[in-house]
Amino acid sequence: MRILIIEDERKTAAFLNKGLSESGFVVDTEENGEQGLLLALSKGYDLIILDVMLPGRDGWSILSTLRQSGNQVPVLFLTARDAVQDRVKGLELGADDYLIKPFAFSELLARVRLLLRRAPARQSETLQIADLEIAFARQKATRGGNRLDLTAKEFSLLSLLVRRTGEVLSRILIAEQVWDINFDSDTNVIDVAIRRLRSKVDDPFEKKLIHTVRGVGYVLEDR
Ligand code: CA
Repeated sequence: MRILIIEDERKTAAFLNKGLSESGFVVDTEENGEQGLLLALSKGYDLIILDVMLPGRDGWSILSTLRQSGNQVPVLFLTARDAVQDRVKGLELGADDYLIKPFAFSELLARVRLLLRRAPARQSETLQIADLEIAFARQKATRGGNRLDLTAKEFSLLSLLVRRTGEVLSRILIAEQVWDINFDSDTNVIDVAIRRLRSKVDDPFEKKLIHTVRGVGYVLEDR
């Protein structure tokens, strides 16, 4: 089992590295967020322990980029602040768990083991809703067996909707997760992107999967 620790506090990183290595894990550590993201994307880790405040690129951005690229590796967030909004943001971005610093190693180890036990079910390579199928790692989407010709952004948007099937996603959440920026809520960028996506995913088919929830956002589901 390989674990990547992205943490710029050397003491914390060394402490985690030692404890996890002694517990039988193969551990890599990285201090810089940008380098950490590259490592996470290029090597197959079973779990990532991720700090929020990092040089190069912060933990939020690392997590959202991983999830956008279809990488479903379990992520345990380390957060220094016991702020509810931090935890909510981490979980919304796709973190699997979080731990508030300072923490006891025994608690971290228990959570790591729990996440690893849960992981196989979550790391499914493909998801299917009705006759729509998404192969995340291969960035491939098909409907009724026919490949959908999607741009990278359209694929990210569809992946988000599919991962959160049945959940109404606000425009702001979609903007943050797919574009990694904050749009003013009155912008129609998201609506335009959804319209383009629908023209490929829904328009040619009788059964519609992407639904508008007036005044709230969008949901993908098999109704
Ligand atoms: Ca830090």
